[in-house]
Amino acid sequence: MSKTIKPETVAAANGIASDNNFGAVTPPIYLSSTFAFAGFERGGPHEYTRTSNPTRDMLAQTLARLEGGAGAVIVSSGMAAVDLVLAQVGRDELIVAPHDCYGGTQRLLASRHERGHFKLIFIDQSDPAALASALKQSPRLVLLETPSNPLMRIVDIKAIAAQAKAAGAQTAVDNTFLSPALQRPIELGADYVIHSTTKYLNGHSDVVGGAVIAASQADADALAHWANVTGTIGATFDSYLTLRGLRTLFPRIERQQANAQAVANFLAQHPHVSVVHYPGLLSHPGHALAKAQQTGFGAMLSFELAGGVDAVRIFVEAVKVFTLAESLGGVESLIAHPATMTHASMTPQARRAAGITDGLLRLSVGLEAESDLIEGLQAGFAALPSAHG
Ligand SMILES: *Cc1c(COP(=O)(O)O)cnc(C)c1O
Repeated sequence: MSKTIKPETVAAANGIASDNNFGAVTPPIYLSSTFAFAGFERGGPHEYTRTSNPTRDMLAQTLARLEGGAGAVIVSSGMAAVDLVLAQVGRDELIVAPHDCYGGTQRLLASRHERGHFKLIFIDQSDPAALASALKQSPRLVLLETPSNPLMRIVDIKAIAAQAKAAGAQTAVDNTFLSPALQRPIELGADYVIHSTTKYLNGHSDVVGGAVIAASQADADALAHWANVTGTIGATFDSYLTLRGLRTLFPRIERQQANAQAVANFLAQHPHVSVVHYPGLLSHPGHALAKAQQTGFGAMLSFELAGGVDAVRIFVEAVKVFTLAESLGGVESLIAHPATMTHASMTPQARRAAGITDGLLRLSVGLEAESDLIEGLQAGFAALPSAHG
């Protein structure tokens, strides 16, 4: 395929009809753990699946093209993807991370820091003074998550990556919430893009996986080396399924974000709701920035019930269509309570500092009919005691 090929085409068609043996249109799956040598000291392109595998490499190459990177490494989960980037940082080097990142990322950073694997500070990255003072300490890595989970805060990737670079630091962006269909951090100056492929890339809630895409070939090689050394690589079958899911990434996310905008509009005018966090709403503090650096507002949102945790308990039992479950990015709609589910691993103080209240609910909006989604939420609201009563 030519260099000017559109990302939609890469997602749908990268590697299609490339099988030289039988002309298979869909790239075959190679489950073999090992590959025959042609002879003494004559290994082929693949020797052992921990190191490389044609199916996993096809997924990696497709993701690298979609994110505009030099290469990608497929690992066993989103956390393994974050950890692969952290492993590039030395014992005396500093990582600057957002105080409101995904709970699992926060826990991983804190746990490795506790064991002396690197230096670490959490800051509010939307606060220019906090960022400037962190960059004065000459960090090795600045980690970004935008939109953030679960409050959908937006930070300026281009501005922060440029400042980080000037300070001698690399920038890694967790792009899980949008996917390359809606945001391409490498084009904005990032050195690494991190994905939980569990979410939008696979999109069908039947694989746990992760990926790191590197802007430079040297970094891509270093990541591949480390994934082989530690053995955190993604399984071949999972890679096959993820590539299968990726084929429909663009139409899925476009439809899902249209549904999310409708759901956000509905929630924003509801008397039981005190605030809606969705970058597609004009009232969202990151609306203009999201509009500038993203090509869509995505299909994730969160909102606060006026009645706090008591209202949450009633609402999640009564809501229809939305399933009470962790995770996101699948074709089905999910509802989660961050304080007791996705972000339960954070201390109450860390949650409070990040603005995650007990009345907050997060929605991953799927592909169901818009009217059914609204009616499903209405069933939850109908069970609550009257807002004015
Ligand atoms: C889910 C998630 C992760 C972790 O991914 P797993 O595949 O669950 O290990 C990391 N970052 C973000 C933003 C996520 O939503």
